[in-house]
Amino acid sequence: MGTSQGRIALVTGASQGIGRACALELAAAGATVAVAARNEAKLAEAVAEIEAAGGQAAAFALDVASEESIKAGAKAILERFGKVEILVNNAGITRDGLAMAMKRADWDDVLGTNLTGAFLLTQALLRPMLKNRWGRIINISSVVGRTGQAGQVNYAASKAGLIGLTQSLAREVASRGITVNAVAPGYIETAMTAVLDEKQRTAMMAAIPLGRAGTDQEIAQSVAFLASDAAAYITGHVLDVNGGMFIG
Ligand code: NDP
Repeated sequence: MGTSQGRIALVTGASQGIGRACALELAAAGATVAVAARNEAKLAEAVAEIEAAGGQAAAFALDVASEESIKAGAKAILERFGKVEILVNNAGITRDGLAMAMKRADWDDVLGTNLTGAFLLTQALLRPMLKNRWGRIINISSVVGRTGQAGQVNYAASKAGLIGLTQSLAREVASRGITVNAVAPGYIETAMTAVLDEKQRTAMMAAIPLGRAGTDQEIAQSVAFLASDAAAYITGHVLDVNGGMFIG
């Protein structure tokens, strides 16, 4: 695996779960990592863990559902580090429900956080990245953005939307040395999936050819690969990390 030695990375939703694992992995690969989310206490823990392992990190309070917060966060990070070379758009939420009864607010919240948030943060950081003529943008999609999922029209639309964003932006910025890829995790044991009941868990497991849930570290390793020099010729790609749940 290549390294990210000396690079500046930003991971959203780094206070826990997959985002935190990505921050740890990128730091272990040599990047200085800006960890961003709303929960500042958990961000401080992530920074402490990275520093204890010999890495470098700094915390930034950032709410990707708020355009103001995105602008202020991006400004603070650029002031501190001068640039962001690796951007991991990982922050995400679910508000599940059948389409018939889904509240407009649940649609808006999920699209606003998962898709619009990723777009606005990318936009806020793109100009300096273009000037720098090197960049890695990695969007955390989902297997349900590939397959759909009953009860998740909002979430699946946001995750499929991220794939369209990834493929389109990859074409726009390739000439400036920036790659844009997505990682589409399958069923990963984190706080997000801890809410599933036993019946849902059993059904999920039955749909995984490799016969087990994935780990946040397995997602983080894929992200670290795409962020590294070893992935320089990969762009516009969706990397499925799902134990065979979806084979496309
Ligand atoms: P968690 O619920 O454990 O973590 C979600 C993270 O997103 C938290 O750090 C949270 O931080 C952050 N977040 C949520 N809303 C906002 C916001 N408005 N602004 C900033 N940060 C926010 O989930 P996972 O780690 O499981 O999920 C991470 C990503 O992976 C998500 O995009 C998810 O959709 C995706 N994914 C997960 C799968 C799984 O099986 N777990 C499968 C496929 C995709 P805070 O609350 O501190 O703001």
